[in-house]
Amino acid sequence: MTAYEIILKKRDGGELSRAEIEFMVRGFLNDAVTDYQMSAFLMAVFFVGMSAGETDELTTVMLESGSVLDFSAVPGAKIDKHSTGGVGDKLSLVVAPIAAAAGVRVPMISGRGLGHTGGTLDKLESIPGFRTDLSRSEFERVVVDTGMAIVGQSPDVAPADRRMYALRDVTATIECVPLIVSSILSKKLAAGLDGLVLDVKVGRGGFMQDIESARALAERLLETSHRLGLPADALLTDMESPLGRAVGNAVEVAEAVDVLSGRGPSDVRETSLALSSRMILLAGLAPGAEEASAHAAEALDGGAALERFARFVEAQGGDSSFITRPELLPGASIVREVTSDGAGFVSRVDAMEVGLASTELGAGRKEVGDAIDPAVGIEIVTAVGEKVEAGGVLALVRGNDADRAELAVGRVRGAFDIAQERPSARPRVLGLIESPGR
Ligand code: URA
Repeated sequence: MTAYEIILKKRDGGELSRAEIEFMVRGFLNDAVTDYQMSAFLMAVFFVGMSAGETDELTTVMLESGSVLDFSAVPGAKIDKHSTGGVGDKLSLVVAPIAAAAGVRVPMISGRGLGHTGGTLDKLESIPGFRTDLSRSEFERVVVDTGMAIVGQSPDVAPADRRMYALRDVTATIECVPLIVSSILSKKLAAGLDGLVLDVKVGRGGFMQDIESARALAERLLETSHRLGLPADALLTDMESPLGRAVGNAVEVAEAVDVLSGRGPSDVRETSLALSSRMILLAGLAPGAEEASAHAAEALDGGAALERFARFVEAQGGDSSFITRPELLPGASIVREVTSDGAGFVSRVDAMEVGLASTELGAGRKEVGDAIDPAVGIEIVTAVGEKVEAGGVLALVRGNDADRAELAVGRVRGAFDIAQERPSARPRVLGLIESPGR
């Protein structure tokens, strides 16, 4: 067996065996398969696709390339939420405390922002003192003590994914269903979970631009997850415009606290409740969807979720005083207004453009190693469906560098469309797909 023969077989539409997939992935990790051979292989998979069986095998081989966490000593059902990435997506900061307050154990392994999307770890690190690099035993202790912990992925979890993802990123092979499925699930299966809730974003700011492709991805994720023994549900959620009003790092943490305090944008609240109630249901803590929703709403509205969030911040080394004194979070030195040329209703705010503007300011990375500025970001003042006068403020750009802030103002202005008619309201939660085993 050679890498050449395997690439050729896939290129010509063949179905690969477990041994062939293993040969490519293991060989790549120990440098017997070169970067250019793996790149050609990934491109062949991109064009030809993979069967359900091949996707299962690829996921398993990638999972087995590293170690698997064992949370069996932690009592209760361990459920995580995974999002395919978006703009203004601070949901983990709201969803995890709601679920934890309702009795779910949430050992969440999160990522950093790349491209136009933000990352939960970057947001959390804007909290003074907060640590995302917990050791395994610290991770487990925080989950036991507070019901939730959010950490970065350790290098020994699914190392094949780390290397393959880096190649995909530079060879235009990211948007490929079997590669996305094996990438996400190899990491989630390695986290020792009892269940997973997936948030598959649809629209300009997400991976999948239309509902049909998002549904196809969600279905393949759930089928593979089910066959590999991890029960999972998926929500399809709208990412045409940024979620909530804040886009950045510290500004998103502040907005998450607002929502946990019973204020904040209703779309963040509703999507958080929808996701956390699926986690409660998967954990077996409610007999049905209605009861799970009631538990989630009670945890949020009764203040238990906010209290959980404060305990979690302290348990991971952060100073939780910013919860009542948001001025303790990093703040930007420059604030620029983005104003509207004409009067009307905001009919569209392009999430991709706002995400790129936020990256331009320094809230995200252009390259993997770039430093993040936790203070900068964008605040949407007039959201989709709201009225604006000529000269009225559409958004605020918060920056620390005048040139970068100016560039961001231009991009944010271009992200807004104004119409004479009020657009019809768009729900954030577009669909639910349940585990095939249910
Ligand atoms: N997120 C991942 O972890 N991997 C992908 O391939 C896409 C999104």
